[in-house]
Amino acid sequence: MIYIRKRRTPVVIEKEAERIKETPGSGYKELRLPEDSGQLRALFDKMPKDEIRTELVKEQHGLCAYCMRRITGQRNDTKIEHYEALSVNKETALDYQNYLGVCYGGEKDKLDNEHQNVRCLCCDASRGEKILVINPWNKRQMEAIGYYKKTGEIYVRPNVGLGVELEEAMQRDIDEVLHLNGEKDSDGKIKWDTTSKLVAGRRCICDSVRSQFERWSKKGTLTAEFLQDKIDKLESKLQGDNVADEYIGVRLYLYKRKAEKLRKQN
Ligand SMILES: [Zn+2]
Repeated sequence: MIYIRKRRTPVVIEKEAERIKETPGSGYKELRLPEDSGQLRALFDKMPKDEIRTELVKEQHGLCAYCMRRITGQRNDTKIEHYEALSVNKETALDYQNYLGVCYGGEKDKLDNEHQNVRCLCCDASRGEKILVINPWNKRQMEAIGYYKKTGEIYVRPNVGLGVELEEAMQRDIDEVLHLNGEKDSDGKIKWDTTSKLVAGRRCICDSVRSQFERWSKKGTLTAEFLQDKIDKLESKLQGDNVADEYIGVRLYLYKRKAEKLRKQN
């Protein structure tokens, strides 16, 4: 996961939400939750979804808000996620500020041979309407996200000032609600990957970074300054409407930790 800078609600989207709410026959004003969530969803379906998906993909640089896999804004790979679930808040149901662009969480991916009968869904497909503590719009939270170099596992780093309670809640969201580490056993070890192969995807980046470090080290170019230059280049992909590489957060994290280590050594 990486930090997402939420942009202003585009005027077309805002106007359409207002129009739907104010239309006398829409029934919006009389809606009561959770019993009328079906009706509310029908109103949400009237929103300009193509425009919404396009805007979300731009502000998220083409990455799923939870797993960092590619989303393009097309209906077949991008879903509009209500961060605050639709069934709990009618104010935010039609509000762009409550929307995230997310992937299909493995719903459309092929099952692998090893686990034919178990679909391990992630992201929104796994979350459903559950309340989340972890929040990609929260910079402090996102700065606490780390990855184990050997396994590609995503985790919340301890001792970065969030407090144990919040760290644990975020980790629970990662493992049990969003399923970003696939299926874990009772000891917390990964039993198998998500159907979308998130752990393998992140591990692949870790392996690539490790061989880069070896190569640069042999050439004698692996310094904090050298890495900082690489970090700046990666971060420029998270500016404007640029599209970033899948799992970019993993590479960025590993570069940053290494640069820190090299600085300390000097
Ligand atoms: Zn995803």
